[in-house]
Amino acid sequence: MTARVIDGKAAAAALRAEVAARTARLPYQPGLAVVLVGENPASAVYVRNKDRAAQGAGLAVQTIRLPADVPAEELMAVIERLNRDDAVDGILVQLPLPASIPPRPVLEAIDPAKDVDGFHPLNVGRLQDGLPVLAPCTPSGVMRLLRACDIPLQGARAVVLGRSSIVGKPMALLLLAADATVTIAHSRTRDLPGECRRADVLVAAVGRAELVRGDWIKPGATLIDVGINRLPDGRLVGDAAYAECAAVAGAITPVPGGVGPMTIACLLDNTVTAAERRRVQQPARRGTISLVKP
Ligand code: NAP
Repeated sequence: MTARVIDGKAAAAALRAEVAARTARLPYQPGLAVVLVGENPASAVYVRNKDRAAQGAGLAVQTIRLPADVPAEELMAVIERLNRDDAVDGILVQLPLPASIPPRPVLEAIDPAKDVDGFHPLNVGRLQDGLPVLAPCTPSGVMRLLRACDIPLQGARAVVLGRSSIVGKPMALLLLAADATVTIAHSRTRDLPGECRRADVLVAAVGRAELVRGDWIKPGATLIDVGINRLPDGRLVGDAAYAECAAVAGAITPVPGGVGPMTIACLLDNTVTAAERRRVQQPARRGTISLVKP
């Protein structure tokens, strides 16, 4: 079997066009603020891509660059200012932060109604309870890809490789909300290949180049590769050995060109959704948690 390739670029382009159309219908320009601390080269590339995509969708985007040695209080003051700024609908602090700044208090300082990354504990709790929420962008992007490809989820066995707060855990919650039977695997899981082989839908988010091999895949299964790993020769690869896995899977996302573009498109979608809720539907509730559909 040769797997159907899930085209994340095309799906992301369609979502960006949808976001641009929604933006154009609004009586104001939704605003996204991206905070970048330090000089991490990968983060700088991600922020540049987010900036470009946001402008392309008609959002007003501002990138606030702070030095790596910025005092935590100064960063908090920036977030407080953005929380109060009525023109800002979405706030994103690019991770990772420098080691000297613990990320938790920073993420918790963001107004939950503007938390377009979905990392604030209120939004995490709402996601866990299956309530409408601004859901984290990468898992949301994966759900959109699965739906766009008509991959059946109800009753399906889904295995999520990785348990980070950014990808693995929210991914598992979204699959659970879609009525899949979900297993979360991690670095202490016994018999990882065996767990993966049971999956109708396997989502790999471990950050280990080509860890998932062809013989870990159930024939015909869907493999979503979230991993982005740079090899010593400069090539970008995912968490799955692509050629081996594509020979067994029914559908597979490439790296690059799979999940990555969807992450950014979902960020734009979350920003416009936050703007619609905050400014149009619930203006009286500004500054409080918004009730936003994932
Ligand atoms: P992370 O915070 O480092 O978490 C990695 C997870 O994988 C952990 O739960 C870890 O288990 C598990 N793990 C690591 N090595 C393993 C192994 N050998 N076997 C089984 N499990 C293992 O990473 P992350 O932020 O979730 O990101 C994961 C990958 O996705 C990275 O490559 C990242 O670049 C990529 N990513 C892509 C996008 C995108 O837009 N495409 C967005 C975000 C992240 P323990 O918990 O037991 O340590």
